[in-house]
Amino acid sequence: MVKTRFAPSPTGFLHLGNARTAIFSYLFAKHHGGKLVLRIEDTDRERSKKEYEEALIEDLRWLGIEWDEFYRQSERFDIYKQYVQKLLDSGHAYECFCTPEELEKERQEAQRKGIAYRYSGKCRNLSKEEVEKLKSQGRPFAIRFRVPDGKDIVFNDLVKGPIRINADDFGDFVIVRSDGTPTYNFVVVVDDALMGITHVVRGEDHIPNTPKQILIYEALGFKVPEFAHLPVILGPDRSKLSKRHGAVSVRNYRQEGILPEALFNYLCLLGWTPPNDKEILSKEELIDLFDLKDVNSAPAVFNREKLLWMNGVYIREVLSVEELAERIEPFLKEAGYEFDRDYLIKVLDLARDSFETLKEAPSKLEPFFVDDFPLSEELLKKLSDLGAQEILKVVSQEIEKTSPSNPEEVKALAKNVQKALGVKPKNIWQSLRLAMTGKLEGVGIDVLLSVLPKDRVLYRINRVLSALEGAKA
Ligand code: GLU
Repeated sequence: MVKTRFAPSPTGFLHLGNARTAIFSYLFAKHHGGKLVLRIEDTDRERSKKEYEEALIEDLRWLGIEWDEFYRQSERFDIYKQYVQKLLDSGHAYECFCTPEELEKERQEAQRKGIAYRYSGKCRNLSKEEVEKLKSQGRPFAIRFRVPDGKDIVFNDLVKGPIRINADDFGDFVIVRSDGTPTYNFVVVVDDALMGITHVVRGEDHIPNTPKQILIYEALGFKVPEFAHLPVILGPDRSKLSKRHGAVSVRNYRQEGILPEALFNYLCLLGWTPPNDKEILSKEELIDLFDLKDVNSAPAVFNREKLLWMNGVYIREVLSVEELAERIEPFLKEAGYEFDRDYLIKVLDLARDSFETLKEAPSKLEPFFVDDFPLSEELLKKLSDLGAQEILKVVSQEIEKTSPSNPEEVKALAKNVQKALGVKPKNIWQSLRLAMTGKLEGVGIDVLLSVLPKDRVLYRINRVLSALEGAKA
């Protein structure tokens, strides 16, 4: 059975790159009828924050990722201890009493010589007695993994292909720090092995860690899983996507009014090409189609415009009006609008093509909700230049008579007014638009008048007429 995991460190909000890793892990597991593990990697006590853990979980749920098992590394220290002991007992690990100053000296020496640093191996061959003596003196020590000299470590990455790294490139590495906390490379192996992970899917920045982990798997007699390292996501300038490029966390996009379905769908296309060339794909279709072997090994470039476009497609075509109403309500309430669900559904039915994000909706839909927009002097001047007073009087009579309830009826009404008054259509539309919304641009006035209840239309017209009267007097 396939089992994957997503293993975030709770040190910040969920980054788009990590969200894509989570999505690919999820899709791969579900495609194979397998399971996904969510594991919070919070061994770094200083940088890990409970708030971030909560935010990660909330954002993953919001995105639509479901996991089958949940773990927190901070609750597993006892388990890690047992495996450290195993490695010490079998000679695969040893105590290292080198002080930070000594190690720093080694590092500087390597730098001076212009060679890559690796631990000298000074404590590699301490005798049992020497170790006991130093321990009894209370000397702090780390625990290092004994890396076999000159060993070539080879693995066949499911995305990147065969990768070969020589153990001499890194040397004996620390698995338990001198403060007693185990390191990432060690705990990740114990966890992945004990949790039965078959496929490790993660960012390519972890490739240098993989050979170290493979050595630990082998030393502990664990089966080595498959690895799939995903290419980085780049910003438009082709450097690694970061805060410099603007919003990079899932939370940012959620607040901007991106739909989870659209973000999920969009992130899938960063580095993966669906075999059927379709771009708008539901979660079910994605589960059906996704395979790690179709992930590109070259980096993907994040394209914000495309994400916004896709969000617009989801708003206009994919969600039902009812679903859209539910998503958009909090944004409209936040703007202080009052309305009921039936009215909102009528509005969205005709005007869901006027915005690409939920956050844009309050301003784009304002004319459907706000009757008492300010009537500035400038606005009244424009209206009177258009001859709006006469036009609006006739319009309001026609509205009383015909109560138009769809764009065609509104257009017919404008024709009648034009016939009665002999003025230009432009003057009629602009007068109406300014009287209804205060602006010349925005949603179609035929759409607005189809949805807005008659009493509110007449209210707005009368308000403008009185203001025009007042301005004249
Ligand atoms: N906690 C690690 C990270 O956030 C997980 C790496 C892994 O998936 O092995 O990068």
